[in-house]
Amino acid sequence: MFRETAHQFVDWMADYMENVEQYPVKSQVAPKDIYNQIENAIPYEGESLEAIFDDFKKIIVPGITHWQSPNFFAYFQANTSTPSILAEMLTATLGIQGMKWDTSPASTELEEKVMEWLRDAITLPSNWSGVIQDSASTATLASIITAREQKSKFEVNKKGFKGYTNFRVYCSEETHSSIEKAVKIAGIGKENLVKVPTDATLAMDAEVLATYINRDLANGHIPLCVIAAIGTTGSMAMDPLATIAEITKKHKLWLHVDAAYAGAAFLLPEYQYLMKGITDADSLVFNPHKWLFTNFDCTAYFIKDKDALVNTFSILPEYLKTKTDGLVANHCDWGIPLGRRFRSLKLWFVLRHYGLKGLQEKLRYHIKLTKWLEAEITNSNEFELAVPRSMNLVCFYYKPPILEHMPLEAHNRLNEKLLNALNRSGNMYLTHTKIEKRFVLRMSIGQTNVAESHIQDAWSFIKKTAKDLLP
Ligand SMILES: *Cc1c(COP(=O)(O)O)cnc(C)c1O
Repeated sequence: MFRETAHQFVDWMADYMENVEQYPVKSQVAPKDIYNQIENAIPYEGESLEAIFDDFKKIIVPGITHWQSPNFFAYFQANTSTPSILAEMLTATLGIQGMKWDTSPASTELEEKVMEWLRDAITLPSNWSGVIQDSASTATLASIITAREQKSKFEVNKKGFKGYTNFRVYCSEETHSSIEKAVKIAGIGKENLVKVPTDATLAMDAEVLATYINRDLANGHIPLCVIAAIGTTGSMAMDPLATIAEITKKHKLWLHVDAAYAGAAFLLPEYQYLMKGITDADSLVFNPHKWLFTNFDCTAYFIKDKDALVNTFSILPEYLKTKTDGLVANHCDWGIPLGRRFRSLKLWFVLRHYGLKGLQEKLRYHIKLTKWLEAEITNSNEFELAVPRSMNLVCFYYKPPILEHMPLEAHNRLNEKLLNALNRSGNMYLTHTKIEKRFVLRMSIGQTNVAESHIQDAWSFIKKTAKDLLP
């Protein structure tokens, strides 16, 4: 039964991949549309896989937003690819837990090796170690907790916060919400997350950072950690890592680099200058599950002092003791969850199948497409860039000359209308951000199979839709 049904599923999967552009990119259902179609209780009698699969096609697919459509330009991509999907099928079949070396040695050892591959490819120093986490949010949380333990000589883990209620963590005003979440979970408190203003490029103003740290020291706080963003979510701004690293080095602060999306581009020599200063940082996170064609979840987390990480998270109750403890890596001690999926398998398939050359070609192609769109926007009288293009993200807005004297609020409403019309069309999916009070459309160009024609069609459709909004 498995064999025949699996063949049917694989046929559906292949058809889906071929025809993904025919679906509306953003799901068009209303709230509760899906919920109301699903039975109210577990069926008492088991059902055939065919019946469930039919309902998948009928009920579930209409409620799917098609992240693998080449017309998906929203947020940041969460890409997949043929080698990744096939490896995920193997992972599901093996169904292993990779928590300890003993629970499946291949899972631990392949993970060690592919993390070394990535570490070397993005030119991190060879004394850094890598481990796969479920998300950048978790990796950043692990980093802040490790910084906390290192600073308190592991006292907070032992006794709670007695004597350590004054930590301060720093990031720019543009950094990702996961940092605020991590600071809350780590017990440091949202009010102790200091948001540093940004410069004209929306990158952290490092001079202000230095002033804030000095001010906090004078007021009896304990500066703990700085999070530098390489590629902010709003506009892909790049914090000045080298300057920030000098400051953290001087004050002996932990420096964590959040390159969740843009980190994939460190595979390109022409972007490695952004890593200047990394040798003085302590940890870095980037997501192969975004722009490196590997199914969610797969976060690459790198750390200089792996002992600090392991000493923060390791636990060894009797039932987890094994003969190899101390000889091998037990990845359950390298982060928060005990159980771990076999995630290195899909990454291994992806890295081998494309090769460094294939990955570099894809990334460069996406950046080239984005540059083309940037030029179109720059040359247009109707649209303006909100900030200069950064890597594969453009942030722009509609500002036709006949509406020149329209107040900002009205322009914002017009751009919001444009965004809604584009997304309702099903032809593409974009999201927005606010830059200096302006409502701005974000277009992230990085889906695995995006090509020139998609960007040209998208741009024509944006122009036409915008024109139709005019009175
Ligand atoms: C996507 C993103 C995150 C969050 O990533 P998850 O893996 O979903 O937790 C954090 N920071 C930046 C800069 C991101 O782009």
